[in-house]
Amino acid sequence: MISPRRFGRVLVANRGEIAVRVMRACRTAGLESVAVYSDADRDARHVALADAAVEIGPAPAKESYLSIPKLLEAAKTAGCDAVHPGYGFLSENADFARAVTGAGLVWIGPPADAMEAMGSKISARKRMKAAGVPVVPGALIGPFEEHEEKISFKEISSLGFPVLVKASAGGGGKGMRVVHSPSDLSEAISSCRREALAAFGDSTVYVEKYLSAPRHIEVQILGDTHGNVVALGERECSLQRRHQKVVEECPSPAVSPELRARLCQAAVEAARAVAYVSVGTVEFLVEPSGAFWFLEMNTRLQVEHPVTEEAFSVDLVALQLRIAAGERLPELPAAPAFHAIEARVYAEDPDAEFLPQAGRLLVWIEPSGPGVRVDSGVISGQAVDVHYDPMLAKIVAKGRTREEARRRLVVALRETVALGVTTNLSWLGRLLESDPVVRGETHTGLLETLLLPALPPPPDEVLAAAASVLSGPACAAPGVTKSSWPGPFDTPFRMGNGA
Ligand code: ADP
Repeated sequence: MISPRRFGRVLVANRGEIAVRVMRACRTAGLESVAVYSDADRDARHVALADAAVEIGPAPAKESYLSIPKLLEAAKTAGCDAVHPGYGFLSENADFARAVTGAGLVWIGPPADAMEAMGSKISARKRMKAAGVPVVPGALIGPFEEHEEKISFKEISSLGFPVLVKASAGGGGKGMRVVHSPSDLSEAISSCRREALAAFGDSTVYVEKYLSAPRHIEVQILGDTHGNVVALGERECSLQRRHQKVVEECPSPAVSPELRARLCQAAVEAARAVAYVSVGTVEFLVEPSGAFWFLEMNTRLQVEHPVTEEAFSVDLVALQLRIAAGERLPELPAAPAFHAIEARVYAEDPDAEFLPQAGRLLVWIEPSGPGVRVDSGVISGQAVDVHYDPMLAKIVAKGRTREEARRRLVVALRETVALGVTTNLSWLGRLLESDPVVRGETHTGLLETLLLPALPPPPDEVLAAAASVLSGPACAAPGVTKSSWPGPFDTPFRMGNGA
């Protein structure tokens, strides 16, 4: 229980599954939680779960979930004394953190200065270099102005092609261009800059070496206000489409105890370099040789935090609340007792370049069973709105071994039902049954070339169930697009190493 003298009523400045997740942790800690919602989210799950809810404006996030004045006003109206930002939206916005503390409320997150130091990829790289943490080799060519001629082509060429042009303010895989030859560099820099300006309001870009087939491995860190910083193992996040994670696991099948110790030490040094408090993630690219490079630090709770929670049997949001209340970090497990794997269920079409989908989720049925956890923000009948992130839920399975966790996840995905909106459910199931994933031999470029077997047509009983749903009253709901079948996977269970 959090001491009520510190805070007792938390405004959850977010929506969807993360708002639900934070509210659960508040309730467990004996705290009340207050939801905020836009016009489009009136009937959303996070609103129903909160102790109170405040409407903050129209559907576009800029006018609701991204409006600092509206969120502060909501906190005041609802009598909140603390704010949890979740992830995404304003969670890494130092101005929001300062506005919250400036209004006399407790900010359940890292200090604004640490967020600022890590917010720009260029300044984060500089800080990490100074702290002795290895960074991807690269030439800093920004900040520079539009049409500036001072770009050091010689310096960039010395890295060797391919190189990656990256937006300093980038996130979510946006604002990146792989460049294979010097003649394409100029155009890549201009287009990356345009995209960065449109998406992040900042056109600063830089160039670094593009590593071929690295793994994305990140370390969970926690810091308290008493100067303690600890690392809580790593997460393997190499399965990505469009540089965005889609399946994560803890621990990584590719990390030896010796490499783990070095990654964790580098992550703690990175966090200490910015006097980090709260939960955060230090991301690395790891090469087959074991060489690793700092990628960036996410100064917030991570989407994939449940795999660490399940592997280590901890509640990271509860710890975040306790840290914000000024408590010392408790003793944490030295090693994971379980293996956990998470699959992100998106309203998107894997057959159309993972294009986000919208519509009404007519039927949503979650799986259950030993070792299965579902973090979701949706209910049957809910609209999936184009204004927001298309992630519907995260399905997590844990086991004593990686193979047990993987099999449980495959079964859980098969049991999940999402009708009314196209999702990646069956694609995820086939991915988790593919040879490289079964063997744990993944890298960040794998999904660009991996061919998954085609999906067989749904069996008759599934078609019959769909027909009955679609001919019922729900069919009249606006925005109905097409159905998505969890479908039977085309490959039977495999034993051990794909044999
Ligand atoms: P974002 O903030 O948009 O998530 P990151 O810097 O974290 O961007 O990178 C996201 C992903 O892009 C990485 O996990 C990796 O797959 C790829 N990536 C980024 N930098 C490099 C690089 N230098 N070489 C190869 N891949 C990279």
